[in-house]
Order: sequence, then C-alpha cells, then structure tokens
Amino acid sequence: MAGGQAVRRSAGRETRERTVVVSAKGGGRWTAGHPWIYRSDVYAEPRDEPGVVAVTDRRGRHLGQALYSPQSEIRLRLLTRGREPVDAAWWSGRTGAAAARRATVPATAWRAVHAEGDGLPSLVVDRYGPYVVAQLLSAGLERVRDDVVAGIRSALAPEGLLLRNDAGVRRHERLPLEVVPAFGTVPETVEVTEHDVRYLAAPWSGQKTGAFLDQRENRALVAAHAAPGGRALDLFTYHGSFALHLARRAADVVAVDSSAEALARGRENAALNELTNITWREANAFDLLRELERQDARFDTIVLDPPAFAKTKESVPRAAAGYKEINLRAMRLLSAGGMLFTCSCSYHVPRGAFADVLAAAARDSGRTLQLVAWTGAGADHPELLNVPETGYLKGALLRALD
Ligand code: SAH
Repeated sequence: MAGGQAVRRSAGRETRERTVVVSAKGGGRWTAGHPWIYRSDVYAEPRDEPGVVAVTDRRGRHLGQALYSPQSEIRLRLLTRGREPVDAAWWSGRTGAAAARRATVPATAWRAVHAEGDGLPSLVVDRYGPYVVAQLLSAGLERVRDDVVAGIRSALAPEGLLLRNDAGVRRHERLPLEVVPAFGTVPETVEVTEHDVRYLAAPWSGQKTGAFLDQRENRALVAAHAAPGGRALDLFTYHGSFALHLARRAADVVAVDSSAEALARGRENAALNELTNITWREANAFDLLRELERQDARFDTIVLDPPAFAKTKESVPRAAAGYKEINLRAMRLLSAGGMLFTCSCSYHVPRGAFADVLAAAARDSGRTLQLVAWTGAGADHPELLNVPETGYLKGALLRALD
C-alpha cells in the first residue's frame, strides 16, 4: 500500500509532503525515546525517494517527521514530533543548540553534534579550530544535504566544511563513499590543542573525521595517574595521542602501532610538543606483548586502545578472546602499583561483557587489579539511555595492587 501525499504551504513555498504510516509497535519506539523505526514496522510508505517525511499511525494521527531511507532496514529516523518546516533554519537551530551544550570542552577540536546522542540521527559534526568536518550517514539526510550544510554554516560559521562521507555504514544506505568539500577550504592538517598537548589532525585522510576525539578525557585521566619519572607503554597509539600526554610525566614512553604511516605522524606530533622521550615501534601489539613478557619487562603505565575487535555480532566470541589476551598480558607487565587504562570501542561488546573479560584476565594474570574508574567517551559524545547504539566506548582505569 502506498503512503499518502499532501500539499503543504510553508514559508511561502509549496512542498509535497510525503507520509509514511507505521504500526503501533513502530510508534511505540518513539514513545520510548528511540528514534529508529525498522522496515518491519512500516505499514505504508511511498518507496520512492529518500528525504524528510511526515509519519502517522494507522488512524492518520501525526507522530512526527523523520528522515526516510526507502532501501535501508532502518527506514525512519525521528527528527521532530512537530509539524514545523525542517529547513536550513531548523538544522541551524538544532546544530547551534548542540554546539552550545559543549561550552566547556578543554580543546580546540570537539564534536558539536553526536548524531542520535544529540537528537540529530545520522549526523556527525566535528569542529577542528576554524574548520568543520561532518558526516551524513543516512540516505534521508543525504537528500537534504543542502539544508544541512546551510544550517551548519549559519550555526557554526566555519572557514570551511568538509564532508567525510566515506564511513562504511553509508553502504547500508546504498550511498557512495566519498570525501567532498561543501564550501571553503579545509587543509590537509589542522593543529589541535587538547588540554596542553598539541597534535595534528588529518581531516581528509585520518581515521573517523581526522582524529579520535572521543578519547580526550581518558588521555587526561591516564596522564594524571601516570607515575612521574616512570616507564609507559602506549599500545595501538595511532598518531600518538595517549603517548604525548604520558610523555609529559613519564621518563620514557614506548608507543606501538602496526602502521608505519600512523607512527610517522606520531613522530611529527612529538616534535611539535618538543618531546624526545617517546620511542616509536612498528609492531603487532599481540606479538610485542608476548615478547615483552618473555623479557620480563615492567611498565608503570600501560594504555590499550585497540580498534574494534568485534565489528559484527558473530565476531564477539573471537573478539572477547582477543581482548582477554591483550589485557592479561598487559596486566602481567605492570609494575607493582602500576596503572592500566584499557578500553573497547566495539559496540557489540557492551560494558558488562567487557567487565567480564577484564575480570577473567585479572584472575588468569595472577595479579590483583583495583578498579579506579570506569569511563566512556568524552562528554561531547553523549550517550542516550534510551538508545544503546549511542554508547560504544568503554574504558577502565586499573591499578595493580601487588
Ligand atoms: N589510541 C589512539 C587510537 C587508536 S586506533 C588515539 O587515542 O588516538 C587503533 C590503532 O591500532 C590504529 O592506529 C591501527 O593502526 C592500530 N592497530 C590495529 N591492529 C593492530 C595490531 N595488531 N597491532 C598494533 N597496532 C594495531
């Protein structure tokens, strides 16, 4: 059955309003604070073009307006329960309000809009000094790109806006993977100050939108707990972000990554901060941990920030084994009183499951680990209790008691 169409007049222009009808179960998801309605809960839809649609229940009662992706399992993403026009001014208002909630971030790079976490499903907006990098992650959003870009421009007034639309999730929406400037110029590298450390973000080619902004607070936390004058090990260092923070307190830091390219940027970042006490090692972290254990090495501070080991539900058991192995070995390498900061960014491994892995690793390591803090992503990456999908990063700061 096809969804209805009505002509609506708004702000002097005529728009064709398309309607999607959803089941009671679908509508119930919005009532429970989750913005997604799946294909199976859609009763009638136009099945033509993506974009912004009106959504009603089967009696025709208005439920809200949503982004519509006719080819995706996630058919509808709630934008507003009202009937107001969703135009450039609307995107500007929502983006500006989200940015205003970040008034106190102690860095020049921060996430202004965290998609569902800020009530703007499938939209990510990151600020890098005077520039902005955004990601449009659904077909419905892509269709209203001009309004979204105009809204970001008016709310944040950046010198340039780059669209890092090369995230793999766009494939589920049948969207091309591309990196395209929207307006102005965004340079290859942007210098960022994070707490009192400087680093170069790479908006065009770096991971995510150019840097891992979500670990900012965790880096400061670990640095604050690092033994002054001690030895530190930063595994999966990427551009050296944890290592730079650690190097300001530790006597020496070993920073490890399997990517030579990532390490080269790490070296540049160390030079930028005039830090000469970081050794950059190209290695597979699993192999290196084994080697260090054989050598009976000891570190006062260790950071484990691996990529998501579980990219799918099916890979969770293998991922759990991987997490257990690196944590177990890292625990054994801690000096007495040493600190381990360990995390997982696998959405499919929830907080409780990660805690279970860490507990099993602690038991097998022969060490006693004190839980100093449980952490997550920084406050500019807010989780919604109603939307578990907004939470992915879990971290634990542990102290070896013996
Ligand atoms: N800690 C970083 C982010 C790490 S991202 C930060 O705070 O910014 C994960 C990194 O792990 C990537 O740089 C990737 O190259 C590296 N990596 C992936 N598998 C690895 C392995 N088996 N051994 C070492 N490094 C690995």
